[in-house]
Amino acid sequence: MQRKRTLPPRRHAGFGFTSILLVLLVLAALYFGYLRPPSATNSGSVGTSAIDAGRSVACRTNRQTLERSITMWAIDHPQQQATVGALEAEGVHVPSCPEGGSYDIDGRQVRCSLHGP
Ligand SMILES: [Zn+2]
Repeated sequence: MQRKRTLPPRRHAGFGFTSILLVLLVLAALYFGYLRPPSATNSGSVGTSAIDAGRSVACRTNRQTLERSITMWAIDHPQQQATVGALEAEGVHVPSCPEGGSYDIDGRQVRCSLHGP
């Protein structure tokens, strides 16, 4: 009778061990399946090109914002050529290129020295 009583806890311990093994296997699968490839393969260049793409999008958004500001500015200054200095003198916030390009105002179009029109 006493032997039978000691068996159930043993079985419990065995189940606990296999469940821990299963968890470790799942964690290992997750680790090697998800975490390893990005660091092991040479995908660093992909990451930086994604950042570059994001910056060029940000630059385009800046230029579009600036072009809208120029349109508004031109309503108040119909005979004048918009320049960065003239816009800033009117309190217009002139954004800057996230990659350090300079903005050149051509009529009502803004060009970036790095990203073009
Ligand atoms: Zn730019």
